[in-house]
Amino acid sequence: MIDDASSPVGARTVTRLSVVVPCFNEEAVIRETHRQLVSTLEQVPELDFELVYVDDGSRDGTLDLLRGIQRADSRVRVLVLSRNFGHQIAVTAGIQGTQGDAVVVIDADLQDPPAVILDMLDRWRKGADVAYGVRTKREGETAFKRWTAWAFYRLFRRLTETPIPLDTGDFRLMDRKVVDAFLAMPERDRFVRGMVAWAGFRQEPVPYQRAARAAGETKFPLKKMLRFTADGILSFSIVPLRLATWIGFFASGLALLGIGYAAALRLFTDVWVTGWMVLLIAILFLGGVQLVLIGIFGEYLGRIYGEVKRRPLYLIAERLGFTSDREDTANG
Ligand code: UDP
Ligand code: MG
Repeated sequence: MIDDASSPVGARTVTRLSVVVPCFNEEAVIRETHRQLVSTLEQVPELDFELVYVDDGSRDGTLDLLRGIQRADSRVRVLVLSRNFGHQIAVTAGIQGTQGDAVVVIDADLQDPPAVILDMLDRWRKGADVAYGVRTKREGETAFKRWTAWAFYRLFRRLTETPIPLDTGDFRLMDRKVVDAFLAMPERDRFVRGMVAWAGFRQEPVPYQRAARAAGETKFPLKKMLRFTADGILSFSIVPLRLATWIGFFASGLALLGIGYAAALRLFTDVWVTGWMVLLIAILFLGGVQLVLIGIFGEYLGRIYGEVKRRPLYLIAERLGFTSDREDTANG
């Protein structure tokens, strides 16, 4: 399964490329996205490509539009999930439905410019196993979103042993062997960019300017962003679990100092240590810290619970444009 890393650079020739597009309520842009994807990919004459659109439980006209697009173009496949499972799962479902030698994941809103796929393809041909997009500039996003994204990548880097490249989303091209490695990971909590980084192989950055959304609005309000951040960090780091130990040492150290101080006062002066206020503060502080830590343990426990249930990752309501010889399994 692992290619010889010393094989001559530039040896790869494209046979088949799959492009995965997760869509959730994207009726405003989906037709334009499709048009641009096709016209970009057709610039490479020898390229045989398929487009895998995943309808992630859209409640608008997205699915009808996708049906129309699929009827008109046999290179299009549509996976319809039974409800909204979220972006990371939709991406996983799409990747599972691909057959290409390389797979690209791209957003449906044209924030990831389709033309960058050609740069990624180039990297892949020259031997890269993963060509990931790095955002050099983000347009049309609020300062708050840019700041939180900036902070997220740095926090992730500090807390985990699998550093994900800074300012990288899920826009990337993966070789089949990376795709197979990704699909072999059984976890339910799927933090795609972290999982791909974990896989290793030859990963190369492709800088690009992230455009503003072509139409429609973001499907990631603050609450979902926070959830996503927690998922990313908790599924790749156990540092928060160690907080309890560190704080415990710190508190014990303070207590020892306090004991020494009290004893010294008693032995060498005629004053006693008094002050129930200090006592109250100490109790409240430690009580608070303990509750927070129990909460953190709870987060991990909840995730373990989710994993052990071993439910399928997603359910498929409909598959359009897939030939019948494809396997029909829904869980990873
Ligand atoms: N998306 C999805 N399921 C969701 C939320 C989003 O498939 O539950 C898709 C969405 O259609 C888009 C991509 O994920 O193709 C990124 O979403 P969005 O552009 O809203 O996120 P942002 O770029 O604002 O972070
Ligand atoms: Mg977007």
